[in-house]
Parts: sequence; C-alpha cells; structure tokens
Amino acid sequence: MPWQTRFLIIGAGPTGTGAAVRLTELGEDFVIVDSSDRVGGLASSVTDAEGFTWDLGGHVIHSHFPEFDQAVELSGVTMNQVTRNGWVWLEGTGPETLVPTPIQQQLTELPTDLRPDAPAEHLADYYRNSFGQVLYERFFEPYNVKMWTTPLDMVDHRWTSLRNGSGERNVPVLTLATGAKPPAERFPYPVGGTGALWEAIHDRVLGRARLQLNTQVKNLDLASRTAELADGRRISYEYCVSTGPITTAMRWTGQERLSARLRASTVHVVGVGLRGDPPQALAGKTWLYCPDRGVPWYRATMLSNYDAGNAGPGRWNILCEVPSFGSEPTTASDAIDGTISSLRALGADPSLIRSRWHRTIPMGYPVPTLGRDDVLAQVNDRLLAHGVYSRGRFGGWRYESCNQDYSFMQGREAVDSALFGAAEDVYWHPERF
Ligand SMILES: Cc1cc2nc3c(=O)[nH]c(=O)nc-3n(C[C@H](O)[C@H](O)[C@H](O)COP(=O)(O)OP(=O)(O)OC[C@H]3O[C@@H](n4cnc5c(N)ncnc54)[C@H](O)[C@@H]3O)c2cc1C
Repeated sequence: MPWQTRFLIIGAGPTGTGAAVRLTELGEDFVIVDSSDRVGGLASSVTDAEGFTWDLGGHVIHSHFPEFDQAVELSGVTMNQVTRNGWVWLEGTGPETLVPTPIQQQLTELPTDLRPDAPAEHLADYYRNSFGQVLYERFFEPYNVKMWTTPLDMVDHRWTSLRNGSGERNVPVLTLATGAKPPAERFPYPVGGTGALWEAIHDRVLGRARLQLNTQVKNLDLASRTAELADGRRISYEYCVSTGPITTAMRWTGQERLSARLRASTVHVVGVGLRGDPPQALAGKTWLYCPDRGVPWYRATMLSNYDAGNAGPGRWNILCEVPSFGSEPTTASDAIDGTISSLRALGADPSLIRSRWHRTIPMGYPVPTLGRDDVLAQVNDRLLAHGVYSRGRFGGWRYESCNQDYSFMQGREAVDSALFGAAEDVYWHPERF
C-alpha cells in the first residue's frame, strides 16, 4: 500500500519550504521529501573541515513580500545588516582596474549612442540601446556571457525590468551617469550563512516530523498520482509541488523533446579561506564582478564581510562563481587554480590559504532564453491537469521570479492555487511585486 498524503512536496529548498509553511497555516496534510542531507537546496550552506562556512553562490536577500518577512521573523534567525559595496574588476591584471558599481555611474559624460526607446529583440540589443556600445563591449556583453554561458542574442531581455544578472535592479544610464550617486544600501544576511535561515524555518516554524531527507523521488506516475521513491517506497498524493528541474518533469509528461529548448548554466563554486586579514583591494567589499575572460570567475563574494563567523577569528573567506561553458567545460582543478591566481593578483598571499573548497552546481542559473515561456506553458498545462505544480528555481525555470523570497512565495501560491484556485502572479508576473 502506498503511503498517502494530500500534498507531496518534492524538495525542501525555499519553494518547498514556502509550500510547507502555507500548508501548516491551513492545517493541511503534507509530506516533504528531499534527496539532500539538509534543507535549503541551493540556498543551503556548508561548513568545511577547516571550519569555514560556504554558501552555494553569493546570496543577497531582498524581500518583496510580508509573508516571507514573517517567516524570517518566526525563524528567530539573527540577521546581520551588511552595507552593499560592490565593485567591477574590469581587467584581471591588478587592483588598479577596480571600479565601483553601478559602473554606469562612473561615466563622466553620457554616451551619444543611447537608444532607450528602440525596440529590442534580445539581451544584446537591450544592453547596447540602454548603455551604449562602449559599456556594452567593456562590461555588459562579456560579463553577461560569462554568467549565462550563453550568447546574448539567444537571451530574452524582458526580465531586465526587474533585475540585472547580479540581482540588482537595472538603473538606466540616462538617470545615473549625471545624477546623484545612490545611497549605500544595506541587506540582511543570516548569521551562520544563507542556509541558517532555512534550517531555522524548518526547526522553529515547521518542525521536522513531516520532512524526509536523503529521500529521492525517482518517478511520478501522473495518472495514478503516485510517486516512486529511490528506496522502493511509494507515496500517493492529491497534489504535488515539485521543485526539482522541470526538465525532469518533462519525462513524466512525455515531453522530453522540449527540454532541448531550455538552457541552464553550470557553475563551479570555489571557496578560498585564509589566515590573516584580506588585502586592501578586498577589505570592506561585498562582491566583485569580473567581465575579463582571463579571470575564471564572474562574481566573487567576500563571505567573511557578510558574517565574520563564516571564516572565524583572524581569518577571511571569499567565494567565487566560475562558469563552465558547454563547448569547453572548465575542470574543478582549473577553476580552483585560476581562482587562486586571480586572488594573488588582488594582493592575497597563497601561503596563508587554509581551505580550498569546491562544489560543482550542474544547474546554477535558469537562462531566460527566447521562447522559454512557450515551453513552460506547454509543460505546465500537462502537469496541472494531474495536480502537479512544478515551481521554483528550476522547477519553474523563470530566473526573474526565483530568488529566495520569490521562490518561497511560489510554493505558497501553488498551495493556494490548488486549494482555492488562486492566481499564480508571483510565478508568472513577478513585475507586479
Ligand atoms: C549561484 C547562485 C546565486 C544565487 N543568488 C541569490 C541571491 O543573491 N539572492 C537570492 O535570494 N537567491 C539567490 N539564489 C537563488 C536561491 O538559491 C533560490 O531562490 C533557491 O535555491 C530556489 O529554491 P528552490 O526551492 O526553488 O530550488 P532549490 O534550491 O534548487 O531546491 C530544490 C530542492 O529539491 C531537491 N530535489 C530535486 N529533485 C529531487 C527529487 N527528485 N527528489 C527529492 N528531492 C529533490 C533538491 O535536493 C533541492 O534541495 C542563487 C542561486 C544560485 C545557484
């Protein structure tokens, strides 16, 4: 006999957690399974054998939703307030090419080739029209290609009304180049790492009685609404919130061929932990973006400036995101070696390294390619007909609505849609929030 539940949640990342919180509020029956040994998914944190704590990529929380704020509050997690201090490292030669963000604010005069009202077909058009050819060539094109691992004429531009490739809102060059500098913003960061928030929500808001870690769903039989687990057990459900990749769900719907029309980037996350103080070029900074292909990473995050506990007393740590291009994949050792030599160029002393941490994330960014929404709509129609909501970062595959707060809300929304027929605006219309 299969185990029975009203809601099966696949994945205890932010999306699955949001669904579980909503179901708990409503007093509904659910089970949440995750193949990992911890909650938080891509927003979890890991402490290595040397005692350095690593996130799986630089994470900044910008909440747009009171429901998310309430979960943070109820979790009881302590939040540091970190002052944003981002820089662009234009050329990976030395600290002299570090430029503060937003880079468009560093222009001394407006470019003469701006075409803000011209139609844009893809991301390359959008950046050229909005920022001019010089900034496009020196920063936006090389940086975005590095981050998306995809030529920009294959990438849609409509998500940019919400944020740029680094999580910040885009500010048009026209208002910035000559305007006043924006005030330094602060953002909250959980003490203990990004994952500490999700652990605390599971400990203090949900409890862990309905959570099964190290439990993988191998297959969903859509017709009978039954999940088959890797350990041979089966769970029958009325509704399923699935937060694994939608490309996997396409196997369940018989639409595998559509997966070729979606793209995800692969990212090596390389952490370097050192004794002593950071060099001048990195002290006090929150992150660096690097468009130079001679440097392996596109973004480096000074984790010990987010929370000193990420490194421990008398130490510091930095986390670098290294893309792997499908045509010429980067090996882990090249990612680590290249990262260390780039840090040396910024003044770090390799003899003080105490930890080299690495994780390959096969799916890092869901690329907003042209035609993506058409594919998503087709698969969604099939899944919804069988009570399955594929949501979240790769479950929903919509970059513009899959940061932690949006993901959490997508999970809540899926529950409200299943039970009350509510619209899923966070998933389909994140620009409304
Ligand atoms: C490099 C990087 C940078 C980021 N930067 C930010 C940022 O600055 N700010 C921000 O708010 N967010 C950021 N994020 C996004 C943040 O991590 C996501 O919001 C979040 O992880 C999405 O949550 P999710 O639950 O949808 O998916 P995931 O986190 O991917 O969780 C899905 C879970 O499902 C489990 N799972 C999958 N398939 C199965 C299966 N078959 N059986 C059982 N379990 C399964 C997985 O183990 C995983 O735990 C970043 C992410 C990355 C990768």
